[in-house]
Amino acid sequence: MKLEGLHHITMITGDAQRNVDFYADVLGLRLVKKTINFDQPEAYHLYFGDETGAPGSILTWFEFAGAQRGRPGVGMIHTITLGVPSPAALDFWAARLVEQGHAVARTDRGLSFADPDGLALELVVADDGNPPLAAVHPDVPAEHAITGAEGARAYSSFAPVEEKVLTDTLGFDYLGDGEYRLQGARRHFRWAYDQAPPAVGAPGAGTVHHIAWASQDDDHLRWQARVGEAGGHVTDVRDRDYFNAIYFREPRGVLFEIATMSPGFAADEDPDRLGEGLRVPRQHEHLRDQLQGILTPLVNPRTARREQGTGTIHEAAATPSDTPRVVG
Ligand code: ZN
Repeated sequence: MKLEGLHHITMITGDAQRNVDFYADVLGLRLVKKTINFDQPEAYHLYFGDETGAPGSILTWFEFAGAQRGRPGVGMIHTITLGVPSPAALDFWAARLVEQGHAVARTDRGLSFADPDGLALELVVADDGNPPLAAVHPDVPAEHAITGAEGARAYSSFAPVEEKVLTDTLGFDYLGDGEYRLQGARRHFRWAYDQAPPAVGAPGAGTVHHIAWASQDDDHLRWQARVGEAGGHVTDVRDRDYFNAIYFREPRGVLFEIATMSPGFAADEDPDRLGEGLRVPRQHEHLRDQLQGILTPLVNPRTARREQGTGTIHEAAATPSDTPRVVG
């Protein structure tokens, strides 16, 4: 029984439209699902990924409108690494991000920058065997498109000590110096702990809420049992409509989820129209009209481009504000 690498990573944003503009337009990912927080239905839950919303490409956000910025500390993920195909792609992204007003810095591994909520992101050349999971965007040449998540780094008070729950229970390989690799049948993911800063962490906009590892559907209950036997306080199985999920906190404090590979994001929308309608979980469907009135209408760049022929989001953004916006 093996985990299949990353399923998704979930963050907090203070501004859903700004989040959509950054990830679905500047970075060229696809908004693959526009739904609500199962536990807090008046808040958006937005999913971005490749064209199909494949596990391994998925980054998601809860919107808490107007939330103060948080700060990563012990037991929190502080940086997410995304892949690109080549060094030329790093040059493309450096130029595109700067052109769109985002500061970038070259690192020895790639290119670092922050999203509008302050979340640290890094682009690296994905030359370690992950099959590319890319989305299509008219301003991003296919040879430069982001190819999925490659890794994430969290803070710990004892970063360089091997975490046995990761290796013995979850099947990560320890590479030394706080670095791990989770190798699935098709995809792998690099996980690492860095020494935590002295300041206490604070959840808020720009921080990571949890990270989800992908499980074959048939293994899901066995993972739940294995985590429980290892002493973890694991939840019951939650039906998240697009996957089943269990949650537990690993010993360093990071909230882990294990999510099934199916049914996936095409379960309730045409694959050509993923992320375009507001999807309301069955148990909250009776709240739909109320929610339509509470949730801020969002412009999906892909829908806006289609409605404007070959127009881009930049033209959409220039549309007078009294023009009806695209509502799910
Ligand atoms: Zn999740």
